Amino acid sequence: MTELADAIKRLSVLVVEDSISQREWLVNQCRCLGVDTVEQAENGRIALDKILARETPFDLLICDLEMPDLDGIELIHLLAASDKRSAVIVVSGREMSLISAVELMATTEGLWVPGCIQKPLKAERVAELIQQFVKRKEKYRQDCRARKNYALSFQRLKSALEQRQFVLHYQPKVKMQTGELSGFEALVRLQLDENQLVFPGDFISACEKYNLIDELSYEVVRLALSQRMMWIAQGIDVPVSVNLSAVSFSNEDFSGKLIQLIQTSGDDPKKLIFEVTETAIIQDMGKALSMLARLRLLGCGLSIDDYGTGYSSIKQLSQLPFTELKVDRGLIDGIAAKAHLQVIFESTLSMCNKLGLTLVAEGIEKKADWQYLNKSGCHICQGYYYSPPMPVESVLPWYQAGMPALS
Ligand code: C2E
Ligand code: MG
Ligand code: MG
Repeated sequence: MTELADAIKRLSVLVVEDSISQREWLVNQCRCLGVDTVEQAENGRIALDKILARETPFDLLICDLEMPDLDGIELIHLLAASDKRSAVIVVSGREMSLISAVELMATTEGLWVPGCIQKPLKAERVAELIQQFVKRKEKYRQDCRARKNYALSFQRLKSALEQRQFVLHYQPKVKMQTGELSGFEALVRLQLDENQLVFPGDFISACEKYNLIDELSYEVVRLALSQRMMWIAQGIDVPVSVNLSAVSFSNEDFSGKLIQLIQTSGDDPKKLIFEVTETAIIQDMGKALSMLARLRLLGCGLSIDDYGTGYSSIKQLSQLPFTELKVDRGLIDGIAAKAHLQVIFESTLSMCNKLGLTLVAEGIEKKADWQYLNKSGCHICQGYYYSPPMPVESVLPWYQAGMPALS
């Protein structure tokens, strides 16, 4: 049995649907896919009793919205508030904007929504969602196993910097309309030993707290510049993006040091893009501007990262010397099926076109989203669908193989 089939077999699913024929059809689909534990409920009340009576939560609820007694919306609410949370696939015959609103509600309440199904029910859609869900669940489990809880002390981080244990992984950015490579985003990792790779979520805030973030950013830029030199010699000459922490804005010496590093590298500053999160810019506009303007003056590109999470206004954006805007994954994931995300995306794209900004869509995982973005005129795409971040030794072989999509 393949790993996927085995993981599907281990799933526990609850189908909540008032129509007997549709409920039985869904139960049957789950069984045909190989799920061992499939239970059913004809309304939210019975479903809730079943959920609360179980010792462990169901892995997945396939939940209709309109049901007598307790409807799907209320059930999802109660599920989110319980200690028996599970992922939810929302099913309904109603309009997509309503289904998306419920999905948004569920995610806002902390539930995982692998996707929605607009009736009429189709076997391929059910299969696609369950398989995607299982793949992601397995990946998440592996990541959790790999990501131990690292409590990194000042000493440990300082010595990691001294011993050059930070490495960069590179994620391709691809020009949507031509498929050409547009650049790479450098994402830092801490290589504790051969088998232990620590992700930025586990050390960036500690570096900020211990005042080591400027040293780390300096190291990241140094590594990115020297990698670019090697790539140029191998025939790859595209910009590299690096992330800057907002904490560095307070240190005026730091921008001077950074500029000196870039100037002495001999590289073209235009080939370096600095990414700063939207929230960081808004929180300290004055300090952010002074550092960013210096980098822009030198010729570097400037990018607003995680756009859509920080409520910046169009006026603020038009006043900043940015060259690129990266739309956060939260506004991209599932866009092909969500009218409200499409409206936001299209108006953001039109704003970027008017302001002369390059728009990068971040975190694309699904083919349908990629296709929608391609059709809508998106400039640049980045995400697991095309390629996850790669260790440096994989980049050249991938490039020489014709940049195959790695999904
Ligand atoms: P970010 O700059 O927004 O980078 C994108 C993050 O999303 C990366 O996580 C990347 O691996 C992940 N990602 C890319 N494509 C997909 C996708 O399709 N789906 C999903 N779910 N995720 C995707 P990573 O490498 O763990 O980095 C997390 C954050 O840590 C970065 O977010 C950035 O804010 C920060 N970071 C990374 N490197 C540095 C650095 O050198 N300095 C600073 N200050 N922060 C850094
Ligand atoms: Mg970034
Ligand atoms: Mg981002």
